[in-house]
Amino acid sequence: MDKNLKEQILRASGVNVLKCMRCGKCSGTCPSYDEMEYHPHQFVYMVEKGDIEKLMNSASLYKCLTCFACVERCPRNVEPAKVVEAVRLAAIRQQGNNHLTPAMIPDMIDEDIPQQALVTAFRKYTK
Ligand code: SF4
Ligand code: SF4
Repeated sequence: MDKNLKEQILRASGVNVLKCMRCGKCSGTCPSYDEMEYHPHQFVYMVEKGDIEKLMNSASLYKCLTCFACVERCPRNVEPAKVVEAVRLAAIRQQGNNHLTPAMIPDMIDEDIPQQALVTAFRKYTK
């Protein structure tokens, strides 16, 4: 188990994975459930166990819509979406793709891209 990776994900997400009681309600409400190999409750559980490489290499990371339905549904206020986001960020960093500067934005602008998507990308990928 890579303890540094686990620590990094826990710190980035701000989530206390130990609060999870594995009820599965987060996964039951997830609109991407059928598309995901690993579901929100599994992200929480697997990060707790340090079983993170599988999550980092999983397409499930990119199926999460960041809709926060799992956050709303969780009776323990665990916020699984933040765990998914933190694992995704760690995977992108590992690939060396975590850098976006303001100068890169004009080339990304396209009339079909909502401005909110650019702001979100900038917030995510300049960390
Ligand atoms: S809803 Fe909350 S407590 Fe239940 S499995 Fe998901 S994260 Fe854990
Ligand atoms: S934020 Fe992601 S993991 Fe949570 S319910 Fe939405 S799609 Fe599923």
